[in-house]
Amino acid sequence: MNVTHLECALCGMRHETNVLQNLCVECGKPLLVKYDLEKASATLTPEGLRTRASSLWRYREVLPVVDDANIVSLGEGWTPLFKADRLAATLPVAVDLYIKDEGQNPTQSFKARGMTAAISMAKELGVKKVAVPSAGNAAGAMAAYAAKAGMEAHIFMPADTPRANIVECEQTGANVTLVDGLITDCGKIVAERKDAEGWFDVSTLKEPYRVEGKKTMGYELAEQFDWKLPEVIIYPTGGGTGLIGMWKAFDEMEQMGWIGPERPRMVTVQSATCAPIVRAFHAGERFADEFENASTVASGLRVPKAIGDFLILDALRASGGTAVAVTDEELVATVAEIGAATGIFTAPEGAACLPALRKLIAEGFIIGGERVVMFNTGSGVKYLEAF
Ligand SMILES: *Cc1c(COP(=O)(O)O)cnc(C)c1O
Ligand SMILES: [Zn+2]
Repeated sequence: MNVTHLECALCGMRHETNVLQNLCVECGKPLLVKYDLEKASATLTPEGLRTRASSLWRYREVLPVVDDANIVSLGEGWTPLFKADRLAATLPVAVDLYIKDEGQNPTQSFKARGMTAAISMAKELGVKKVAVPSAGNAAGAMAAYAAKAGMEAHIFMPADTPRANIVECEQTGANVTLVDGLITDCGKIVAERKDAEGWFDVSTLKEPYRVEGKKTMGYELAEQFDWKLPEVIIYPTGGGTGLIGMWKAFDEMEQMGWIGPERPRMVTVQSATCAPIVRAFHAGERFADEFENASTVASGLRVPKAIGDFLILDALRASGGTAVAVTDEELVATVAEIGAATGIFTAPEGAACLPALRKLIAEGFIIGGERVVMFNTGSGVKYLEAF
């Protein structure tokens, strides 16, 4: 539609959009989608959005896919933003606390946002078989969107992935292989076999479109806050696709004249037992080393090495944000606390935001009167064995 080209996020090399692409052919880093934003903003306007569909495809002009007939949708996005006053009352300072509830997406996590875009583009470009290494929710979402599109789905997951993720994939027609290892080991298997098998690899940030689906969280926040972005966003970070996406969305909105140059302070939360971004952030590094012996019940955060590490770290620093680790004990215990105070049964990943918020208040990083958004990235129903 309004896509002009793909651009390498590190070296800037230009790539074409009308063929399948994974990483930059020059430096092996992620490719990001570039739009003609002037053309997009001729028909996409804040006022015009009011009457559009309650899905992320309401931002059609800044999403990929040329032909609408190729859009594979299950009703993803446009999730509620809840004010969590009773939870906020337990904090030592009066912040305006909000929860963006991504557990209400199809397949119960925000992975649906990425997959609607990636599978739609794969369909447009003629893909018949898709493969993904996943720590859990990406697999469930890919299986669902591939099923809707009529594509063959091949999924590689660590054997200790939450059972709900394994069952949902099987029940939506995917081929599931359980691997004795981490998501990085699963990724190696997909990389080795994809050419011979004819699979398109939809690993996060190893294809350009999942981040486009996830960036709509940034558009939604702006719209739900009436175009005045909050002061702080706390984001449970694995591969970082959502954080990178929101950062990109803010930039696009500024170029379209919808917001000014102010940005929320972006905060990454990780589990203390898998915290490569937290470690690199505080060490002042631009790239994050692989985190050895990574483990956490928050399976979405179990990403020991993120290919978009520099994009996450750049955004944290440019926004004046930070990175916080919380223990697995803290994040699991917090699910019940958030649940009782808000009615939302969060994923452990989402719950991790609350102990992080408490630490940031204690450090004076967040002060009274600020608007803080915690991302609940999925539903607790997918993690029953954690409770
Ligand atoms: C994948 C996932 C995350 C991490 O998302 P990224 O955008 O890849 O950092 C967080 N929470 C849940 C529930 C997830 O499934
Ligand atoms: Zn490059």
